[in-house]
Amino acid sequence: MKYFFIPGCLVMLMMAACSPSSKTNKEYRKQAKEYARILQEYPVRDSAGLNYAGDWVGTTNFSMRRPNFVVIHHTAQNSCEQTLKTFTIPRTQVSAHYVICKDGTVHHMLNDLLRAHHAGVSKWGNNADLNSSSVGIEIDNNGVDSFSNQQMMSLLVLLGRLKRAYNIPTANFIGHADIAPGRKVDPNRTFPWQRLAEQGYGYWYDTTGVQVPADFNPVQALRIIGYTIQKPESAIASFKLHFVPSDSSIVITEEERKILFSLQKKYE
Ligand SMILES: [Zn+2]
Repeated sequence: MKYFFIPGCLVMLMMAACSPSSKTNKEYRKQAKEYARILQEYPVRDSAGLNYAGDWVGTTNFSMRRPNFVVIHHTAQNSCEQTLKTFTIPRTQVSAHYVICKDGTVHHMLNDLLRAHHAGVSKWGNNADLNSSSVGIEIDNNGVDSFSNQQMMSLLVLLGRLKRAYNIPTANFIGHADIAPGRKVDPNRTFPWQRLAEQGYGYWYDTTGVQVPADFNPVQALRIIGYTIQKPESAIASFKLHFVPSDSSIVITEEERKILFSLQKKYE
C-alpha cells in the first residue's frame, strides 16, 4: 500500500470546510510546546539569563501557579468573529482566555494557567501585573448595548467554575476599568455587577443605617478597595462605572460616601 502525505487542512477540506481555527490551533500547539520545553528545563535559567547550575536541587513538591483574579471586559467590537480574528493575528498581541458571544457560546482560547494579554498597563492594590495573575474574559459587546441573557448565563457558569477550580477570592472579580482608570471603560455601564456580587463574584454595598465618620476620606477608601489613586478623578470615574453606573459625574455625593464607606469595610 502506498502512503501519500496530505496536509491536514486539505484532508479537512475534502471532508468539510477547512476551519479557519485549524491554522491558529496549530500555532497554539507550537507555542505551547515551546513553553512545555522551557518548563522541563533544569537547572532553571531566569529571565535575566542567570542560573544556579552548580547548586540546583530539584524539589519533589510543586504544582502549576494558579490565577487569583478574574478580569471582565467588553470587546468594543461588532461581532464575536471579529474578536476571534483580533485574538488570532500575531501583530495585535492581544488575547483573552475566554470570549463569550451574544448567543452564549463560550470560546476558550488559552489554558487558564498561561498568561493572556488582556489587562495592559494596570494596577489593583499592589498588584501591578494583572496579566500574570488573572483570567481574562471578553464579552462580545460594542461598548454601548446591554449584555444578552445568554451571555450572562454563560458568564455565571464560567465564573463558578473558575472560582471553584482556583479558589479565587470573592473580592477578586473585577472589571478592566477598575484596574486601568482613565484608560479603560469596560465593561460598560449596563454590566450587572450587583447580580454578580449577589452570586459571590465581587462585593456590593449595603448603606442601610450606615453612619459615615466625619474624618472619612473617600479617596483613601478607593485605595483600600483596590483602585490606583494617582489620578483621583479617574479612580472616581471607574468606581462609579462599577458601583453607581447611573452617575457619570466625578463629584462624590453624600450617598456615595456611604457606599464607599460600606465597601471599604468589605475590602479592608
Ligand atoms: Zn478590556
